[in-house]
Amino acid sequence: MSGERGAPALGRVHVVLVGTTHPGNIGAAARAMKTMGLERLWLVSPSRFPDPEATARASGADDVLRGARVVTDLDAALAESRLVVGTSARARSLRWPEWDPREAAARLVEAAGSGAVALVFGRERTGLTNAELERCHALVRIPSAPAFASLNLAAAVQLMAWELRVAAGGVLWGARYEDPDPPASAAELEHLYAHLERVLVALEFLDPDNPKQLMRRLRRLCVRARPSSREVEILRGILAAAERGPRRGR
Ligand code: SAH
Repeated sequence: MSGERGAPALGRVHVVLVGTTHPGNIGAAARAMKTMGLERLWLVSPSRFPDPEATARASGADDVLRGARVVTDLDAALAESRLVVGTSARARSLRWPEWDPREAAARLVEAAGSGAVALVFGRERTGLTNAELERCHALVRIPSAPAFASLNLAAAVQLMAWELRVAAGGVLWGARYEDPDPPASAAELEHLYAHLERVLVALEFLDPDNPKQLMRRLRRLCVRARPSSREVEILRGILAAAERGPRRGR
């Protein structure tokens, strides 16, 4: 599948639905995507899929459903993405960078100029967990009435897809800048965090029985800094050198 002419960035936006309970919402989300020129759909552990209700609600967007990739692990859906934005109906206890829908769409379209990006949606009842939100560079909350803030999942997809389409229309494709040192992918960042945690435990800087707070702060530092693949390689080289210790006899 490839993006429509004139808006190649939209073809690089991956929509990720986590733990969807109602297959009708999956179909409606596929339809919402297709109307706005999005086509890459990931389903992380859906309760029921494929399902006739999903196909029915997709109307003519069954090609998006057929192309959907079903995985059990969010990390697998995000692995190639260089910018990951999560959506949430409410402000979380987790203090994390927040963008409004318009800013998020502009940043996603810009980043999609040089690679895959992802927009993540949560479960109908409970949204995304803190561990899932931590995988995102930033969170988006669609401003809504405080007393009734939660949109239907597919309605939230529709609104974000529209913002992406508007943002894509505003970009000058001919002048698109290909970044020679693109931001690290989600998989590269996860490997960095795991490596960092190993080294910090070995150095007894981090208590392996209570690693949560420090690792969350270090993740937050990294998502703010948006390191490139090359910068992540340098950091991992430093960690490897720390693990080895100074060479003797030199
Ligand atoms: N109580 C849940 C509501 C889930 S609604 C929560 O706090 O997130 C299902 C999904 O729709 C959410 O996970 C999110 O992806 C999306 N969504 C619903 N309302 C939204 C809003 N106002 N802003 C951003 N995303 C929203």
